[in-house]
Amino acid sequence: MIKANDINRKSWIKYNKDSDFPIQNIPFGAFKSHSGQIHMATIIGDTVISLTKLEELGYFKNTSLLPNTFNKNLNKFLKQGKATWRDIRDQIAILFDIRNPELQKDQQHQKLILFELKNIALIKSVNIGDYTDFYSSKDHATNVGKMFRDPENALLPNWLHIPVGYHGRSSSIVVSGTDIKRPSGQVIDKLTNKPIFSQSKLLDFELEMAFITGEGKPLGQSISTDEAENYIFGLCLFNDWSARDIQKFEYVPLGPFLGKSFASSISPWIVTLDALESFKINGEKQEPEVSSYLKFSGPKQYDIHLDVLIQPNDESPTKVTSSNFKYMYWNMCQQLAHHTINGCNIKAGDLMASGTISGPEKKEFGSMLELSWAGTQSISLKNGETRKFLLNNDSVIMQGYAKNKDVRIGFGEVKNRLID
Ligand code: MN
Repeated sequence: MIKANDINRKSWIKYNKDSDFPIQNIPFGAFKSHSGQIHMATIIGDTVISLTKLEELGYFKNTSLLPNTFNKNLNKFLKQGKATWRDIRDQIAILFDIRNPELQKDQQHQKLILFELKNIALIKSVNIGDYTDFYSSKDHATNVGKMFRDPENALLPNWLHIPVGYHGRSSSIVVSGTDIKRPSGQVIDKLTNKPIFSQSKLLDFELEMAFITGEGKPLGQSISTDEAENYIFGLCLFNDWSARDIQKFEYVPLGPFLGKSFASSISPWIVTLDALESFKINGEKQEPEVSSYLKFSGPKQYDIHLDVLIQPNDESPTKVTSSNFKYMYWNMCQQLAHHTINGCNIKAGDLMASGTISGPEKKEFGSMLELSWAGTQSISLKNGETRKFLLNNDSVIMQGYAKNKDVRIGFGEVKNRLID
């Protein structure tokens, strides 16, 4: 039993019942204050809590936290491992428990520690070293295979045997709120069937989730599916922006390159694997039987509801799809075991994205490519316009939450505007 997950705990910080961030969540992030100071943070309701200040004022002194942890980014915290992650989450839960007068009665300290969401700017909290993107949704891989290859053999022969992935570009991962510039590159001209240099005309989102790792094992060693959860810190929402026309011309034989590397965006709060403990479920049965290093025991999927909305200009947004993280065929433990089976090392602050998460129904597809079926169908927006792919000044908003009768653990959102 994880203490911070206690569903009966109430906080002295007030928030609505449907908040993404009840006291049972305690995600990790970072922000910049009005004065320009960087803080590591958590959030309860709409109240942002500076972990940097909590540490400075001695509130973590009875924990396993190393000195000067929360000062630059979360990497130093990520390095300290699961026992410390748990310890700090528990300590935060106790500090903000309505039964605890310590900080509740200390107005002076509260002035230094608590910030209103509207007065700060959320920033990227992790210095992401390496970024890997998987391709682990069977419905997505099947849809893409049907559109671009052979409807009869939509999945490539390796797909049911290995969690397919590629190494992406970590330095162009940006946080929610950052504008995304439409890229240019070489695309095939429809009339001449020859490559031309052009702005991408088939700009797309990919609905994904990503996990952030703790410090893995050294080069030459592997992480088993049984050990994997100890190396996964938490999850955020991930939009893997994709230029389909650039991607289509360049991707054979080495995979995605410039069609992906111009930007990916993440939600600012990392929700810990611990906070999601009660949302674990079994995934689809894997047939054919997987290689022994990919076998696992117990529920390893997570029931996390996901929505994507498109907001043209600043008009009212339209929900264009709803999916769920549970639709993944390969789970995170298998992804991490596969990633390290060749002895590849994992560092604190690596990011591994799921791949586009599509469900079986059309209304659950995780990209415009699938929703418009390669541009053959239109999606209607509330303002009367239609889309096949994204237009400039469209904002893409991704939201996610896990919910049961006891608690709602939300992710907030990742929202970015596409610009010229
Ligand atoms: Mn992707």
